[in-house]
Amino acid sequence: MKSFITFLTLIAVSFYSNGQNQSIKDLDLKLIDFQFTKEQNVQFESIDSTTVSIKDEYWDTTVYNPYKDVTVIFPFQLKFNDSNYSSPISRNKVVTSRYGWRNRRAHKGIDIDLITGDSVVAMFDGIVRFAKYNTGHGRTVIVRHYNGLETVYAHLSRYAVKANDTVKQGQLLGKGGTSGNARGSHLHLVINYHGLAINPEYLFDFTDNNNNNIRAKEIWVTKDWTRPYIHSSRRQTKLNLLLTEDEAIASLIRETKVYVVRRGDTLSKISLRNNVSIASICKTNYIRRNSIIRIGQKLVIE
Ligand SMILES: [Zn+2]
Repeated sequence: MKSFITFLTLIAVSFYSNGQNQSIKDLDLKLIDFQFTKEQNVQFESIDSTTVSIKDEYWDTTVYNPYKDVTVIFPFQLKFNDSNYSSPISRNKVVTSRYGWRNRRAHKGIDIDLITGDSVVAMFDGIVRFAKYNTGHGRTVIVRHYNGLETVYAHLSRYAVKANDTVKQGQLLGKGGTSGNARGSHLHLVINYHGLAINPEYLFDFTDNNNNNIRAKEIWVTKDWTRPYIHSSRRQTKLNLLLTEDEAIASLIRETKVYVVRRGDTLSKISLRNNVSIASICKTNYIRRNSIIRIGQKLVIE
């Protein structure tokens, strides 16, 4: 309404100032202003709000992790529209290495066996945030999804998409391979939330090839599910799904901590210092009572 009145005023000014060059120039500028505002409004209405929010923040197509200065507050809730994801590969999934501690390093994703040239597809709808070579990961496609998750598909041999492409669940992203630091062809799949890698098996079932189940439509994530060193790449961590905020908060009390072995430490000293039994330390860390522990080794204390 305000714009319409301005428009009428401009017409009136135009009528009275006819023949005066200076005024007409002023008027032209005002009219351009008015049209620009009007166009902006139209454009704004035509943009899909979901598209705006997904690219609104930390949208950088040049880096693996654009969330470096973001602190994630735990616990946080993830929501899914569906009960199933699309399997990133078309053959039966064989997980050859899990999320967790591996060869004294953090393995922040899971490895799924494939043959070079196999199609790799998007697990959910989203927008390609990154499609380029990354040290270690090789040719990598990262898709950002509408619930804030990013899925990372690494060691590809070819790309089928580019950054800023909108993709549908099940759409081809590229071909699997061995690029980057990969021994043998496989898909290294990472599930990131605001730059933090979540244990993918907490959210998704990779063992049932027929259903590809999402564990729950609403699921709470605690810090434990984002810390590779309290998981083992050789076995699936025992699942304790947190479906409500109350459950998530209650679980914080039981959260595990990590003890770094110091000079002169023995299992019994560590046991006394942390008020936990030797048997429990051994069980949690898959070690024996007579195992040699190194200075700097990380032990999970539950
Ligand atoms: Zn891997």
